[in-house]
Amino acid sequence: MSRKVTDKAVANRPARHVKTIIIGSGFAGLGLAIRLSQQGRNDYLVLERGSDVGGTWRDNTYPGAACDVPSHLYSYSFALNPDWTRSFSKQGEIQQYIQGVAAKYKVRDKHLFDCDVTAARWNNDTSWWEIESSKGSFTADTVVSAVGALCEPALPDIKGIGNFKGEVFHSARWNHDADLTGKRVAIIGTGASSIQIVPSIAPKVAHLDVYQRTAPWLLPRMDRPYTLPERFAFKRIPGFQRLARAAIYAVRETQVVGLAKIPALMQAFELIARAKLKHEIRDPELRAKVTPNFRIGCKRMLISNEYYPALGRDNVDVVTDGIAEVRENSIVTKDGTEREIDALIVATGFHVTDSPAYNTIAGKDGRTLSEVFDEIGQQGYKGSSIANFPNMFFLLGPNVGLGHTSMVFMIESQINYIADALATVDRMGLRTVEVRRDKQDAYNVELKNKLEGSVWNTGGCSSWYLDKHGNNTTLWPDFTFEFRRLTKTFDVAAYETTSGNSRNNLKVVAQ
Ligand code: NAP
Repeated sequence: MSRKVTDKAVANRPARHVKTIIIGSGFAGLGLAIRLSQQGRNDYLVLERGSDVGGTWRDNTYPGAACDVPSHLYSYSFALNPDWTRSFSKQGEIQQYIQGVAAKYKVRDKHLFDCDVTAARWNNDTSWWEIESSKGSFTADTVVSAVGALCEPALPDIKGIGNFKGEVFHSARWNHDADLTGKRVAIIGTGASSIQIVPSIAPKVAHLDVYQRTAPWLLPRMDRPYTLPERFAFKRIPGFQRLARAAIYAVRETQVVGLAKIPALMQAFELIARAKLKHEIRDPELRAKVTPNFRIGCKRMLISNEYYPALGRDNVDVVTDGIAEVRENSIVTKDGTEREIDALIVATGFHVTDSPAYNTIAGKDGRTLSEVFDEIGQQGYKGSSIANFPNMFFLLGPNVGLGHTSMVFMIESQINYIADALATVDRMGLRTVEVRRDKQDAYNVELKNKLEGSVWNTGGCSSWYLDKHGNNTTLWPDFTFEFRRLTKTFDVAAYETTSGNSRNNLKVVAQ
């Protein structure tokens, strides 16, 4: 008889074996968990370091947090939500959606929350993964990393920042106990997070200094609440919501032509962005300060109708002189100006190509992911597997990122691939599968060729899309339907395999 996993049960019983362990329960890990349950592959467990599902949507609770992909596309294809209240959802509504999906598909019981995975090592003798976590040890036939790219806050290495006496926190770890009302606040960074925070807090703080290193490009945000008739139609008219979703998908997909194939076409977007800038910022000095100096699309294109007006407020200054040091109660810029502050918000992004998690995963030859990536860069195969890491799959691995459309589409493509891989392993009685290095290399040569002409590589900016070798190891350089095609089925011929799964009859403990 199956037993529900509880924190207590697992904490009391170290080193238990689970057939498949999924690490992380954002859109990716949760989506795979649902698929495995639907296939009756119930011998899996999701280890999640947070206390709930949701990943980035659980963690990013900063004021103004919202998605810049329309809601009807930014959701699972198998769990459309006719009740979205507006075209671009806010964080709370998305998190509620994710929680609702987890409940509806009854997979919460397959989760171990507050479980921080501290190490995962491949054991060549047993052909198992050995996993250490804050809730005990596990072994697993297969591990799927679903930790995502935007989960480890990157803190800026600025002289003296540790000495700051006031409130200081990262955008993704918002301190809701810190009341910013009437305070002098500084925010470092002008990326997707910052441009949502700035207009949300500007009206209530005494003063806000926005420390900008690189000015971003902004496009209009076509956001609005759905009308009651629309919501009725999404709910009641068969096919209407799918049609709306398909239309959003198709329009967004056209951006790939400019972004990845013919960057000169991005000038059309640049015209719109320049017109917006001119319209929304009247002061020529401020306008010059926030005019970007690279081709639009090279960094993620941001959407906001409130950011520029917020910058124009009397109590907001844009500071571009570069930060020299942070003192106990102030920030000093390179021109020697000292600006006093009470609170400091660090909206400086995430460890994307240098995630600390890479130090904790050791593959077949004992090297960690960090060590492997140090040598060859963050390379993988179809974003889903990496040579030297047998029986390990990745959701949101190398080169599956997007700037223009829904990551959930890419995640579902990978779920197809990985679920089919697990089924293939069982069907063929395989003990191990490891992507062939020659296949991985060939795949990456092709990716590199495609990326060479893209706006991300040629647009004249430096961004987190590129790793320390200067290679773009984060983005998918083609139409997303092309990725869907590539990942439709598991191509076992691209993998080294060994057979004889001696654990087929192992009782699965975590059910
Ligand atoms: P980000 O895009 O990486 O932006 C970080 C900002 O901090 C940049 O302006 C960067 O300047 C600046 N910065 C970094 N280190 C600095 C330093 N040492 N000194 C001064 N400035 C520094 O991070 P993010 O805004 O958190 O967004 C990350 C990603 O999350 C986005 O690209 C997007 O994929 C996702 N996101 C999406 C949404 C949405 O859907 N609406 C919202 C938030 C985040 P440089 O440009 O000069 O590097």
